[in-house]
Amino acid sequence: MQRIVYLDGQYINENDAKISIFDRGFLFGDAVYEVTAVINGKLIENEGHMLRLQRSCSELQIALPVTVEEITSIQEELIKSNQLDEGGIYLQISRGSAGDRDFGYPGADVKPTLVLFTQARDLLNSPKATKGIKVITTEDIRWKRRDIKTVGLLAPCMAKQGALDKHVDDAWLVEDGYITEGSSNNAYIVTTEGVLVTRPLSNDILHGITRKALLELAEKEKIKIEERLFTAEEAYQANEAFVSSATTFVWPVIEIDGKKIGSGKPGTVAMKLREIYIELATQTAELKDGSKPFNKERLDTQRLAI
Ligand code: PMP
Repeated sequence: MQRIVYLDGQYINENDAKISIFDRGFLFGDAVYEVTAVINGKLIENEGHMLRLQRSCSELQIALPVTVEEITSIQEELIKSNQLDEGGIYLQISRGSAGDRDFGYPGADVKPTLVLFTQARDLLNSPKATKGIKVITTEDIRWKRRDIKTVGLLAPCMAKQGALDKHVDDAWLVEDGYITEGSSNNAYIVTTEGVLVTRPLSNDILHGITRKALLELAEKEKIKIEERLFTAEEAYQANEAFVSSATTFVWPVIEIDGKKIGSGKPGTVAMKLREIYIELATQTAELKDGSKPFNKERLDTQRLAI
């Protein structure tokens, strides 16, 4: 089935959506993006994603072409027109096209290009969530502003493909001997003492919206948290490992570089966090009508540390 997608003010068939060859997203990777999960046809944690989108745009001096409220209406319209029950909505804003190739940013007369499309996915019943995933570690060759969610994703694509070529699911990236994050997710371990360890926020990693929610849930569960650097060697010795992102929620990691983590089965902390995150997300999705944030109080009292 062909999707209805959104391109610069129009809802059109995916085959009819065309963008200029001079679009800076295409020429320079000069674009930012967000992915919001959808459960029961409702947006999950969208306010957090919109906050991060505004922050990415402001770091790159890209003006939002429409308001955040309008973006949310577009997302809801696409959910309806594509009858999306479960999956995600991809959103991309590029700096637009100045009609030629030139490194310097074009003037304010060039309007950013806004694209949104839906992706139907089985998020709740993914086999990777119940079986866990295997990862390898690989050098983190990305740029130094990983806190900005840009479409310049060739390095993570190479890392992911390197993992697939080795018949595992994903790659954990390593810089100066320490894990930064997964190719498209945040990385965590649970030590033999039961401490949840994940890298602290900085420009070295993407400030995951799911990471923020999970750390708050873990705190409520009285799990000891340490936001600090950790090595692959420490991860090999851990009781558990897992990853988080908007559309995976939590996936246990059962093997790193061919070494079994803990029992080699999905860990209890990872599965518990997945369960309570989904419970909260699903409840919120059922209770609220999409236009409302996932947990407004949380976002208002503690703005994203980005
Ligand atoms: N790190 C990276 C590099 C990512 O690409 C993603 C997913 N976009 C994440 C972390 C997780 O972020 P979020 O929980 O906001 O999806």
